[in-house]
Amino acid sequence: MGRVIESPYLPGRGPWLRGNLHTHTTESDGNLSPQAAVDAYAALGYDFLMISDHDRITPVDRLDPKGMTLVRGNEITANGPHMLHVNAAAKVEPLPDRQAVIDTVIAMGGMVIMNHPNWEAHFNHCDQRILEMLRGYTGIEIFNGVTLRAEGSPLATNRWDMLLSQGRRVWGFANDDSHDDVDRGVCWNVVQSASRDVKDILEALRCGRFYASSGVAIDEIRVEGPRIRVLAQNAQAFHVHCDNGCMALRVSGPELDFEVPRGAAWRYVRIECFGPGASQAWTQPFFLHS
Ligand SMILES: [Zn+2]
Ligand SMILES: [Zn+2]
Repeated sequence: MGRVIESPYLPGRGPWLRGNLHTHTTESDGNLSPQAAVDAYAALGYDFLMISDHDRITPVDRLDPKGMTLVRGNEITANGPHMLHVNAAAKVEPLPDRQAVIDTVIAMGGMVIMNHPNWEAHFNHCDQRILEMLRGYTGIEIFNGVTLRAEGSPLATNRWDMLLSQGRRVWGFANDDSHDDVDRGVCWNVVQSASRDVKDILEALRCGRFYASSGVAIDEIRVEGPRIRVLAQNAQAFHVHCDNGCMALRVSGPELDFEVPRGAAWRYVRIECFGPGASQAWTQPFFLHS
């Protein structure tokens, strides 16, 4: 028997909505007021935005959303590894016990994203043992824009592959973590959402119905039997990764047609798309079942 592919995506071409979940403003250490930050992302053509000031919920209800869907959030910062509180009904105390923090966020109907694990001079803002120990978070930032100009690495697909290889179901997010003008529009998440309603966008994020990008736009992701097809008009190459980060296939061109080998014992495969310059897109993992 071949393997059954569990895809988080809806068949077909979308609808795709683009957003950033990690934005600082003058309410913490960002350079723009909340309204100016909203205006800047709206001007870039974004569909949704979360303002995530440090240990503070910046109110968004009175801002002009400029056509975007605004998500309430903050970045839980003090006393431990940083994490995004998505859909924040109220501020959660940044206790050193991060599991207690995650449990509280979930009890309040929110989601947690573990931030920039490879930030800082030692490339280890959040140790892998902590990522492995903590339970209940929705995903990790596999790309954090501001770390392009800070110490460490913006990329954390190494952390993601280690978690996925252990059977963890965590999604990969790409967020600007914008503090200054140069940080805006570096990377984003593109969700397949039934509508622009915040509930639908959050549901898509929770279910992994999105991809992360730093410039490659995926048009279509389709799973048929043992095959995964990805079409991305501005992609030049694709890498298919499986357990422990191994590369299962590397191809050139704007289209990938990958067949999971019958005998493969992998837990998952995930696809990286490479475009002009350093641009990339990352699909969520496709989990494989017997
Ligand atoms: Zn942070
Ligand atoms: Zn931040």
